[in-house]
Parts: sequence; structure tokens; C-alpha cells
Amino acid sequence: MKAIQFDNSYARLPEAFYSLGKPKGAPAPGLLRVNMELSTQLGLDAEWLGSDAGVAMLSGNAFPEGAQPLAMAYAGHQFGGFSAQLGDGRALLLGEVLDPQGQRWDVQLKGSGRTRYSRGGDGKATVAAIVREYLLSEGMFALGIPTTRALAAVTTGETIWREEGHLPGAILCRVAQSHVRVGTFQYFAARGESESVQRLADYVIDRHYPEVRGAQGNVYVSLLESIVARHASLAARWMQMGFIHGVMNTDNLQIVAETLDYGPCAFMDDFRPGCVFSAIDSRGRYAWDQQPNMAHWGMIRLTESLAHLLSEDREELQAIANQASDKFSQCFEREFLGGFRRKFGLLEPMDDDSEFVQAAFTAMTRNEVDYNLFFRRLTQVADGANPEPFESLFEFGGEAQAWLSKWKERIAKESAPGTDRAATMQAVNPIFIPRNHLVEDAIQHANAGNFDPFHKLTEILSKPFTEQPENESYERAPLENEKVQHTHCNT
Ligand code: AMP
Ligand code: MG
Repeated sequence: MKAIQFDNSYARLPEAFYSLGKPKGAPAPGLLRVNMELSTQLGLDAEWLGSDAGVAMLSGNAFPEGAQPLAMAYAGHQFGGFSAQLGDGRALLLGEVLDPQGQRWDVQLKGSGRTRYSRGGDGKATVAAIVREYLLSEGMFALGIPTTRALAAVTTGETIWREEGHLPGAILCRVAQSHVRVGTFQYFAARGESESVQRLADYVIDRHYPEVRGAQGNVYVSLLESIVARHASLAARWMQMGFIHGVMNTDNLQIVAETLDYGPCAFMDDFRPGCVFSAIDSRGRYAWDQQPNMAHWGMIRLTESLAHLLSEDREELQAIANQASDKFSQCFEREFLGGFRRKFGLLEPMDDDSEFVQAAFTAMTRNEVDYNLFFRRLTQVADGANPEPFESLFEFGGEAQAWLSKWKERIAKESAPGTDRAATMQAVNPIFIPRNHLVEDAIQHANAGNFDPFHKLTEILSKPFTEQPENESYERAPLENEKVQHTHCNT
């Protein structure tokens, strides 16, 4: 068996970027799950991860040679208000690993105890939070959305205190391309440490955006535009999956636009553009349809942080900022419409497609249609199925038929064969998503010490586009009494 080999580039940055520190350890660690497929992809030994030595590392009781645990410093706008000092308060970057292709990955423990940035918190995480993040992040990965991953999870054997009472503790081993956030740039910018901003930008370019070195003109302008484009695309893809991140604070907007921080996020059941689940988002700042605005807003904060690298001249800086802002809008529109065309099976772009999509949203809202089932059953109709199951999703049957007639009229204008349409739709409209009530059920059982529903759901969600007749009950929408109205950070 082979222990993890670390190579830590972040630890080679100046000390102001982080605080070194050891994980606090767990009294009675127990292995919850190892992600075999991800360990293989990273060239790690899954058997070692599950061994006593592996669990000792995963629980923070031992760290292997070469690990240099550190908490990263960052700042961030939380619900619009700026905090100059956040940082990893309940996470530690153990180090980085290189996969067989030479790609570098962060390996982080989440929930491993207090750090210099913990403020009032205990630095720990509940089983609920870890089960949630494991299910959601791996579910997102299988859906094809850029995201951080779950490599493994352990229980700590410790009871921790939260508002809801005493809860069991756990630690997630999270893997990401990066844990640098918009807030990491803001941290140095807010302190006026422009050299550190540049140092961080160079690090991000070398590690994540090497292609911008070859671009014409100012590399930092190219960097900004690349980051902006990825965030625009991510926001569009979240919306297409009916995903609501819930806490798009700038400390949670990661620099390569992987979905980061699975707190109060949720997949929407009944469609409503203003849909919000997070119990703390009382004003709907991060509602389903606000996500592009909020990602865009975060990109403007990033632009401000990079300002001195973009131009010394005010007017030129303004022009660069406007251009980045336009780039966001253009990329978002393109990804949004392109993605929804595929979801609706519109293979040949036409002028009125945007209106077509908006009219569908209006009908879906009025009829309280389940978002995911709408696309799933429309896909079946495109594949020749009886339209009745699709129509039954609508509150008002007549509106279902009227909408379906419009859809048929629209696709009749295309020359593409129906089989192409069904195949396109099948590839983008999942059968299984991490629905709130399923996640909640797995969490409740996990809290009581039964992890079987968690394991089963993890398996089902790993093949979201594959029919699984034996798991049909996981496809359906929640019953009225199963509906989860609010999600919590469960930190
Ligand atoms: P979040 O909004 O969940 O991304 O967290 C915002 C900030 O709070 C970050 O700096 C976290 O590290 C910190 N934080 C969240 N939960 C805890 C905790 N249990 N202990 C210490 N810090 C925490
Ligand atoms: Mg966070």
C-alpha cells in the first residue's frame, strides 16, 4: 500500500497567505466512505486511504510525510457586507497531489478543528454537513457540473454542539483544483498589499490559467476575462440543473469556477424563478434566477481587487472593467440559451428561442411543474412516449396540451431527425438528482448512525443519466409532506 505523496505549491507562497497548523485530531475515528473512482483518477491508493494509516490521516490524527497542513487566508463579501478577515476556519489544506497526468489537486480536510481563522467557531463539522457535501458534490460531478469533489469521509466519534443540539461530528476530505477564491484576492486588496495581489495572480495563472501567458496584451486582463467566462458558464449550468447554490458570497466563488461550499444549496422541486431554500437568505439574494446577477457582482469585486494590475490609467481601467462585465453577460446569455435549447430539444437555433424558453418558464411557474420531471418527461415524449405523464405534471391540463402543441410546432420547423433530438435531450436532462427530501432522509439516518441510505443514494446519483428501474422511487418529486422548505448551513 502506498501513502499519499504531497507536493505543496501553496505552502511555498509567502507566510501572509496562510497560517500553518496541525489538524486537531479525532478521539474515535471511523471510516465513512472512500471514493474509489476519484482515488484511482488521482493515482492514489484507495486501499491505503481506507487502512488505519489512511483513516489516521483523514481524521487528522496523523499526517503523512510531505503534508504541510495550512489554513488559507481570505476575505469576502457575505450577503453584500465585507469581512476583511475570514479564512479557513474549519478546514486545513493538507497539501497538493499530482495525478498521473501531472495535474495538481488540493487535498483538504474540512471539519478538522480550529485554526487561526476560526473566530468564534469550533472548526468542526457535523455528520449532517459532511453527508450533505459528499452527496451534493459527487452528484454535481456526475451531472457534469464543475465542482470540488469528495475523496473520503470519516466520523470523528465526537459530539459537537449546534443550535439543534448535540450532533455527531465528521470530517470530509475534499479535493479541488484550487481553494483560491475571489475573497483571497480581496483579502490582500483590502489591506493595500498590491504585491501580494500580484503574487497571487501569478500563482493562479501558473497553476490554473497558463494559457493566458500566450495571450496578447496584459496577462491580468486575460486572466480576469477567463475567470469571468467560467463563472458565467457555471451560473448558467447551475440554472439548467435547477441548482440553487444558496450562499454565493465572494469567499465561496472559487477562482476556477468549480462549485464550492455545499451549505444551504438545493435542487428545486416545483419550478419558480425566485425559488430560495436557504433559511438565512430571507431576501432572496441568491434565488435561482438571481445567480447570474450575483456571480456577475462577484466578478466586479474581483475586478476591483485586480485593478492596479489591469491598468494605471483610470479611463483605461474603466474600459477594461466594462469589457469584462460585457463578457460576463455575453457568455452567460450564450451558455444559458445554448443549454436550454438542448434541454428542450431545439437542435437548430432560431430567432425566437429566447422567447420560447421564457414562455415555457411562465407556463411551468403557473402550473407549479416539477422542474426536473418536466425535462425528463419531455425527453420521453421526444423519444415517442405517451404525453400523458408529461401533461399530468401541470396543474391545468389544458395548458399542458397547449404548451406541448407549441413545442411540437417549434420542432416541426427543424430538419433534424427525432432520434437525434431524444439523444441530445437524454444527455442533458438527468433522471436522478440529489433532491432535497432524499438528501434529508440520508442525513436523518446518518445522524442516527445508519449510513446505508447515504451509500445507496451516492451510488444512484453517480449514474444520473442511466435508467435504474430498481430505483424508480428516487426519480419522483417529493410528496407534499416530504417537501423540504428550508435548507440550513448545518456547519
Ligand atoms: P461559509 O459561509 O460556510 O463559507 O463560512 C464562512 C466563514 O465561516 C469561513 O471563514 C469559514 O471557515 C467559517 N466557519 C464556518 N463554520 C465554522 C466553524 N464551525 N468553525 C470555525 N469557522 C467556521
Ligand atoms: Mg465558504
